Amino acid sequence: MDDLPSIRADIGDCTRCKLCGLGRKQIVFGVGNPCADLMFVGEAPGRDEDLQGEPFVGRSGQKLTQIIEAIGLKRPDVYIANVIKCRPPDNRNPEPDEVAACEPFLFRQVDFIRPKVIVALGTFAARSLLKTDEPISRLRGRVFDYRGAKLIPTFHPAYLLRNPGCRREVWEDMKKARALLNGEG
Ligand code: URA
Repeated sequence: MDDLPSIRADIGDCTRCKLCGLGRKQIVFGVGNPCADLMFVGEAPGRDEDLQGEPFVGRSGQKLTQIIEAIGLKRPDVYIANVIKCRPPDNRNPEPDEVAACEPFLFRQVDFIRPKVIVALGTFAARSLLKTDEPISRLRGRVFDYRGAKLIPTFHPAYLLRNPGCRREVWEDMKKARALLNGEG
């Protein structure tokens, strides 16, 4: 039987892709409640996350915390992870070989946690999880079946910081997540 510590142990001091040699300080595995009903998946660690070893601790992390609290939950209630566990240099987008090397560990995390709802944060996470090239503008507003969960794509908190006008859409997405968590909808 898989569990989070054994998934982390299998990752080890990972050298499966080139990001291990491109300046990452540490692997950012994921954080939160291993029995969470709600899971958030972002793109990849940024500078703050690489330094602290925890996903979403920088400015976008503060925004994500607000989003979580807006539906009456706290950060420790949910589980937070990224598609990629190492920081790409200069915050560039992860490359396909990096996603291919890393995503099996995210799949194992999802399969162990078995959340009811997964919120995919931003274009990159939504496209990687759903294996599609569709733009986030076409993906958000919809609910997808994904590894036994309902997957809701929404805007990335960093995008929301730059475009506060998208707040209403993110709120709609989070209300949908809350309804699904409550067995409604
Ligand atoms: N952006 C992400 O996608 N993930 C993080 O952990 C931090 C910023």
